[in-house]
Amino acid sequence: MQELWNWQEILGQFEPEGKIAEVIPYGSGHINDTFRVTMEEKSGRKRYILQRMNVNIFYDPRALMENIVNVTSFLRKKILERGGDPDRETLNVIPSRAGESFYQDMTGNYWRLYRFIENATSYDQAERPEDFYQSALAFGRFQQQLADFPAGSLHETIPDFHNTPARLEALKKALEEDKCGRAAQAGNEARFILEREAFTHILSDKLKCGEIPLRVTHNDTKLNNIMIDNGTGKGICVIDLDTVMPGLALHDYGDSIRFGASTAAEDETDLSKVSCDMELFEAYTKGFLEGCGKSLTTAELSLLPVGAKMMTLECGMRFLTDYLQGDTYFKIHWEGQNLARCRTQLKLVQDMEEKWEQMNAIAAKYRHKG
Ligand code: ATP
Ligand code: MG
Ligand code: MG
Repeated sequence: MQELWNWQEILGQFEPEGKIAEVIPYGSGHINDTFRVTMEEKSGRKRYILQRMNVNIFYDPRALMENIVNVTSFLRKKILERGGDPDRETLNVIPSRAGESFYQDMTGNYWRLYRFIENATSYDQAERPEDFYQSALAFGRFQQQLADFPAGSLHETIPDFHNTPARLEALKKALEEDKCGRAAQAGNEARFILEREAFTHILSDKLKCGEIPLRVTHNDTKLNNIMIDNGTGKGICVIDLDTVMPGLALHDYGDSIRFGASTAAEDETDLSKVSCDMELFEAYTKGFLEGCGKSLTTAELSLLPVGAKMMTLECGMRFLTDYLQGDTYFKIHWEGQNLARCRTQLKLVQDMEEKWEQMNAIAAKYRHKG
């Protein structure tokens, strides 16, 4: 693929001055095209991450980059203040020569350049609860560092991303329209969700009346969006800030539990294998609260299990809506996969409801140490 691009032309638009030594496709991201660039500069060899941004998904790259620049420059200041290394502990956007945070080429591609975070690795798979804990710690710290960032000033690059009541309305509409004649197959799932309508409003109501604060959220809290230091094994930097938006801390926390504490794959058809693992739930909760320090409010702390259940139910709704609409959003590899995905999420919700007291007890155990 790399032969397609004229690296000299693209990299020449950014600030670093030097000779290009190497450009190779890099990492295992699914959204952007990522390349590792090595440059021979006066001061020696320097590496960068060059990305061709996916504008099919993010149709407003300017707003997206404005969010990233604002958040990363704020983080850089914070890291400097406490004597950390701002070149490794946050992403750093290298500006274009025109003073922009990206370069748009003649054919409409958007390119951006980041400083390469050296001596660190991003892992695709959690091998042990410790990895999940490390990721929680890093995402919690991210929350803490951005606690006094004016979250409302960020662009909502995907409007209503975690507006659960709006997601429910979209599901109701899809059920009514029943475009593909699939609603009959999903009667039990639809009923399960509709029975929980009052629940879907809890967090958005609390945000509206000011009981919980608007915060900066990452919205893609996978393990491989954290760089782990090769020497210490500790998470040092949160990367992949494409979906940074205003939202709730409980969204990031809840979504991490949803996918990270599940005992089975998202499309597992044997539902007896699907449950919310309390050991993993505890590992993540402990790490997240340690990372957050004292930045979460009492109300937020008391709502952690609600966040986990909300994100899981919402995700179930989204899979079901897409199934009813003919699988236009989530790619499928086999017929009925989105219905299967919905079922695993609802099984998780049910399991969380059964473990509700235990989840609250675990959350309470760590919030005192915040
Ligand atoms: P995803 O599928 O998670 O949305 P993506 O396509 O948005 O991925 P990124 O996560 O931004 O892409 O980057 C892909 C990979 O490139 C990362 O998982 C990481 O291994 C590597 N990477 C990204 N930025 C840096 C950086 N600044 N320094 C070192 N490695 C990086
Ligand atoms: Mg990524
Ligand atoms: Mg990404």
